[in-house]
Amino acid sequence: MGYGEENFMTALEIKDLMVFYENAIALNNVGLQCARGVITGVFGANSAGKSTLMYTISGIILDIQKKEKMKGGERVSVFGSILYEGTEIIGWEASQRARKGIILCPERRRIFQESSVLENLRIGAILATRSQARKTLEYVYALFPQLKRLKNKEGGFLSGGEQQMLAIGRALMAQPRILLLDEPLLGLSPLMEEMLVKAVREINRETGVTILISEQYARPILPIVDYGYVLENGGAVLEGNSEELMDNPDVKSAYFGL
Ligand code: ATP
Repeated sequence: MGYGEENFMTALEIKDLMVFYENAIALNNVGLQCARGVITGVFGANSAGKSTLMYTISGIILDIQKKEKMKGGERVSVFGSILYEGTEIIGWEASQRARKGIILCPERRRIFQESSVLENLRIGAILATRSQARKTLEYVYALFPQLKRLKNKEGGFLSGGEQQMLAIGRALMAQPRILLLDEPLLGLSPLMEEMLVKAVREINRETGVTILISEQYARPILPIVDYGYVLENGGAVLEGNSEELMDNPDVKSAYFGL
C-alpha cells in the first residue's frame, strides 16, 4: 500500500520532540499522539510551549529557523520525530506539509487585515482545486453565516470573534486533513467561546478532519476533546481522556480555576 492508502488510526505521532531557542528549551522531550478523526487537546499556561508545538508540527519552525539564521539571530534547534500518517516529516518544509493537509490556524488569528473576508478565504484556497474551493466556501458560509454577510468587509474591521471565524474558515479552505488550532478562544467573550467551540465540534463531526487544539484553559473545550495533554515548561506532564483530566486535582486547580 502506498502513501495515503493505509487506514492509519493515528494521524500524528510525536516522539522525543525537543525545541531550543538558542540555549533556552521550549519543548522538552514531548510525546503526543493524535488519533485520526477526533479532537485532541493541549493545555498549558503562557509560555508552556503550545505555539512552539504548533509551529513545529506545521513546519513553520523551520521558516523561523531560516530567518533567524539569515539575520544572524538566535539559533533554533529541533530534534525528535513527527510521524504523519506513518511518514517521518520532521525535515519537511511547511509548504510541503500544507500540501499534504497539515494546516495551522495560528494564535491571534493572523488574518490579512486589509483584504476582504472573501479575499482572505480565497487566499486560503490556494492549495485547493476550483471545485474544492467552491464547495468549501459554501460550507464555511453555512457554518459561519456572519462571514457571508461580511464578505466584502476588510478583515481588520471585524470583531475578534469574527476574525477567529475567518481564520478557521481560511484554514478550512486549505483542505486540511489535520487542523491545528492554536488558542482559538484567546480574548473572546464567553458567548463567542461557546459558539466557536460548537463550530469546532461541528467541523470535526461533519468533515471528519482530525483536530489538535491548544488552549490555556481546559474548561471550555474539554467537553469536545477526545484526549488531552497538559504541557508545563515545555514538557507533557499529564495526559488522559476528558473524564480523567477533569478528575485530576492538579488539572482542576491549574486549568479550571477551581
Ligand atoms: P503563549 O500562550 O504565551 O503563546 P505558549 O504556550 O504558546 O505560550 P510558546 O510561545 O511556545 O508558549 O513559548 C515557549 C517558550 O519559548 C517560552 O519560554 C517563550 O518565551 C520561548 N519562546 C517562544 N518563541 C521564542 C523565540 N522566537 N525566541 C526565543 N524564545 C522564544
